[in-house]
Amino acid sequence: MVTMDMERHDFQLDDLVERIKDNDHRLVALQVPEGLKMQALEMMDSIEEDSEAKVVLAADPCYGACDLVHDKMRMMGVELVAHMGHSAMNIDSGMPTHFIPVTYEGDPEIDPVIPILVRHKEIAETRLAESITPFDLSEDEAKDRFLDAVGRVAPLSGTKLGLVGSIQHLHLLPEYKERFENAGFEVEIPTGGARLTFPGQVLGCNYSGDDPSIGHYIFLGSGDFHPIGLVMHTGKPLALLDPYTGEASELSFERIERILRQRMGLIFSVDEAKSFGILIGEKPGQMRRNLAIRMKRLLEKHGRKGYLLALDHVGPDLIDFYPVDAFVNTACPRIAIDDAVKYAKPLITPFELEVALGEKQWENGYQFDEIP
Ligand code: SF4
Repeated sequence: MVTMDMERHDFQLDDLVERIKDNDHRLVALQVPEGLKMQALEMMDSIEEDSEAKVVLAADPCYGACDLVHDKMRMMGVELVAHMGHSAMNIDSGMPTHFIPVTYEGDPEIDPVIPILVRHKEIAETRLAESITPFDLSEDEAKDRFLDAVGRVAPLSGTKLGLVGSIQHLHLLPEYKERFENAGFEVEIPTGGARLTFPGQVLGCNYSGDDPSIGHYIFLGSGDFHPIGLVMHTGKPLALLDPYTGEASELSFERIERILRQRMGLIFSVDEAKSFGILIGEKPGQMRRNLAIRMKRLLEKHGRKGYLLALDHVGPDLIDFYPVDAFVNTACPRIAIDDAVKYAKPLITPFELEVALGEKQWENGYQFDEIP
């Protein structure tokens, strides 16, 4: 287990306190990510000492800005939501929300990661040299392509190093761009779509900054949640540099191929399924009602039945008992990918359902379920 050095985390509460005072707010909800909940009471003390407001902790699990406290807290009289550790998304929660940045002052050496990056650049160069035409493939070759962890998405136009990170380390990226450039790499800090706020930012459900000129990646952060999604989405080699420990590593292709093999197995397993529960996430940034309804229509077109099930949290205890053969998940995309084994029945993504029904082809490679 990684022990985080909490002393080097900077919680920027001053702007929040100013906003509370300026608006004379009396009741504020504080929402913090799971990893920082231990510090929540200290933060509540600090806000209450510096302002006239009372603070109520929104203590339900929170894994992203997709999960903002919404209207129900208004009934409690909450006037402002203070959300920590994530950045604003292209969603409206119905509540005034103040985002509190958290930064971490890590300064890991780049030397240990250089040999990995050199190897990954060579992979990118080989890919760039090979032009793959997906539609010339046989059925077996197409399925191999589906399972291939690299080289299975769009052809490359370059071999640049994409520099990305998790939110508390993004302020380090310009400095690290320079360091990697000095080490001989052409570096891009990719800018993504409306769901992302900052250059180089990635979410577990959005890697929209990717472009064909990027041949491989380095991720500044810890854990494998964002890295797994990045490689599933882009099919590109990924090195990891952890600002908490200074450790350099890479996300192995075998790991991604194992996940893709599991996804393929799940697609096969719903072949005969007649009825599906279609999960709709109630969290403001996970709600994909139109996609869910499209899946219901698609199932009807293929003579199957789909039931729309709306949930705030998704978990095995909450859905396994329904008398359906399988589930399609339109809430957080990572529920199907990361938690599949916890469910008694197949839990698949909308893309996987489309493949199972023959609406999408294997040869285009695995398509990650991105929320734009
Ligand atoms: S990966 Fe899931 S929890 Fe994280 S921001 Fe996306 S929808 Fe929310």
